[in-house]
Amino acid sequence: MSSSPETLVIIGSGPAGWSAATYAARAQLKPLVFEGAISEKNRMAGTLPLGQLALTSEVENYAGFPHGDLGRFLDSALPKERRMMMPPHEGQGVTGPELMELMRQQATNFGTRIVTDDILKVDFSARPFKLHPAEGGVVEAQCVIVATGASANWLGLPSEEKFKNRGVSACAVCDGALPRFRNQPIVVVGGGDSAVEEATYLTKFASMVHLVHRRDELRASKIMAARAHENPKITIHFNTALAEVLGDDGRGVTGVRLAGTVEPRAEQTLAATGVFLAIGHTPNTAFLDGQLELTPKKYIVWKKHFRTDTSVDGVFAAGDVADDYYRQAISAAGTGCMSALDAERWLAEHGEH
Ligand code: NAP
Repeated sequence: MSSSPETLVIIGSGPAGWSAATYAARAQLKPLVFEGAISEKNRMAGTLPLGQLALTSEVENYAGFPHGDLGRFLDSALPKERRMMMPPHEGQGVTGPELMELMRQQATNFGTRIVTDDILKVDFSARPFKLHPAEGGVVEAQCVIVATGASANWLGLPSEEKFKNRGVSACAVCDGALPRFRNQPIVVVGGGDSAVEEATYLTKFASMVHLVHRRDELRASKIMAARAHENPKITIHFNTALAEVLGDDGRGVTGVRLAGTVEPRAEQTLAATGVFLAIGHTPNTAFLDGQLELTPKKYIVWKKHFRTDTSVDGVFAAGDVADDYYRQAISAAGTGCMSALDAERWLAEHGEH
């Protein structure tokens, strides 16, 4: 790293970060990406490098990647040392981790530099901006793109942790169509629009969806709630909480133990091959320490219509960290591209490029 300020630093390594890096690198901005640290803390928080997509299995809805055998393509596109660390490709469509490795490589091919560390603190009060990596030192930057994403909320049950990726998921759109969920009962936890949307989506595959909600009415909007009530393949369990995910090492999830949230707090068990958590997301904005304007739910506010400008001139935001609505890999990649174009124009206007 040079001691003169970086032109552009990108914080985050999901689809938004890599897409921004690819565009910025092709525009000769020599972006520096902080992709996050590989640490137990990040593993537990769901904030390891490569973002939420790296926590999913097959990705069927990312444009340009139809179902097919990508093995030889992956071998030719990725460097051996990173390919060797990935699970073997088994003839299905692209997986989340594969897609993220491809995006990372694409950005690298055009000269993106990568630091495998977290940014713990920022100072956006004056330019050049100051960024504090976990490993120490200070990195100065003329322009910054924040693409740190969001993390799905989990209940924190040990059994939930144990069966993640073996029946426990926080993304129905990512995982719902997997064979293990076909014509089987599935449990969805939550009572908001996301829970209803996920439950409705999962009825396409499941024999029955059990929607488990801790209160006696759904938080979801009226129209969404009506959809859940009217769907014969959705059974709503009100005043009920997930107490334990049941399963074994061989089969993964086989059922759930539910507990009432009001007296007499009766317990029941249900058979299920999947448990989907839809209890909200938390954007990864705590490290900003209030220096960018956030929504009440702590998402970064885009200050201009259809632009990625934040409340600080020269700082842009892309992906789920600024989007609590679409939250798809492809929409994150789209806003990542927009942020790089916004940053490039901003740098040109300020004589930095
Ligand atoms: P949300 O509206 O915050 O709902 C989260 C749900 O999870 C609530 O029902 C909440 O219960 C429950 N919950 C939270 N913590 C829990 C815990 N520890 N144990 C059990 N249950 C827990 O989040 P969201 O559904 O992800 O929606 C986020 C935003 O996106 C909303 O503004 C929503 O309208 C929007 N959205 C819109 C659509 C659509 O229009 N198609 C689709 C998805 C999302 P309580 O109700 O008891 O608080």
